[in-house]
Amino acid sequence: MIIVMKNNCTKQDVENVIAVLKEHGLGANLSTGSQKTIVGVLGDKTKLSDVNLELMDGVEKCVPIMSSYKLASRDMVPEGRTVNVGGEIIGANQLCMIAGPCAVESEEQMMQAAAGVKAAGAKFLRGGAYKPRTSPYSFQGIEEDGLKILRKAADAYGLKAVTEITDHDLIPVAEPYCDMFQIGARNMQNFRLLREVGRTKKPVLLKRGIANTIEEWLDAAEYIMSEGNYNVVLCERGIRTFETATRNTLDVSAIPVVRERSCLPIIVDPSHAAGKAAYIESLSLAAVAAGADGLIIEVHPNPKKALSDAAQQLTPKAYAELFGKVRAVAEAIGRTI
Ligand code: PEP
Ligand code: MN
Repeated sequence: MIIVMKNNCTKQDVENVIAVLKEHGLGANLSTGSQKTIVGVLGDKTKLSDVNLELMDGVEKCVPIMSSYKLASRDMVPEGRTVNVGGEIIGANQLCMIAGPCAVESEEQMMQAAAGVKAAGAKFLRGGAYKPRTSPYSFQGIEEDGLKILRKAADAYGLKAVTEITDHDLIPVAEPYCDMFQIGARNMQNFRLLREVGRTKKPVLLKRGIANTIEEWLDAAEYIMSEGNYNVVLCERGIRTFETATRNTLDVSAIPVVRERSCLPIIVDPSHAAGKAAYIESLSLAAVAAGADGLIIEVHPNPKKALSDAAQQLTPKAYAELFGKVRAVAEAIGRTI
């Protein structure tokens, strides 16, 4: 349930409402937007059966949240949340550009990748040190050595580091090296992992599962948020359909649906959706035009030699060209990049 405060409510009115919630063993999530102040009720609202909050000073109305996810719902923060990743803001008007190789392979590769994505204009460097591969015989990542290299390359170029963790045991290992955890498509419903990243303060990039509905995805985000970490960014990366011409099918519709239902920023990964470098530009431009809050794109200094996802990685040069076109679309729809 959310409590919508009147436009002319006082600070004291808001404090009184929060105090009543606390007295009833409930939590409160305060959202002070430019239009409305909203107090979200966290916990079992039946505990409020002896009190009529709508009679309290400054309260306009109480509205139940019908979805199973509450903190992730748009009702909770009608203006949308922003996520601060080491000083870089994701959400609001800003387009977040994350780029880098599928996997960290060597220091030389990461330094070249970081130089390329920085020169193009990206603010975030990606690179997987623990790779969730379909086959156990495929390259699995260079683990902690990879995290060290990612950090070094990100710092050398003033970029924020984003990396995937595939298991809750890896949280303390990766935490010192990255600015944002990535939870991959295969782990979207790894509930222990979700809860445990929720107990950290580190921003989380939560990818949509390969065959998950938007509702299941938002419930997964709620797992993280219910533990106290509200720094969640959603990432549409394509879903499995009957179509085989592309690796996955980018669900562009997910962008307006998520923006309507959830307060969380949503970015798009065209690389894992397309699976082929030639299609990345189209999908990127479509995603930004459709209202995505950013793009995460695989960029490798020498894609043909990549140890994973070789077919879909862009060269730094191709990424720079794409970046210029994304900038033009962003400006056309009034967003900054
Ligand atoms: C990745 O980003 O390298 C990755 C494995 O993505 P996904 O989880 O979307 O497949
Ligand atoms: Mn990849």
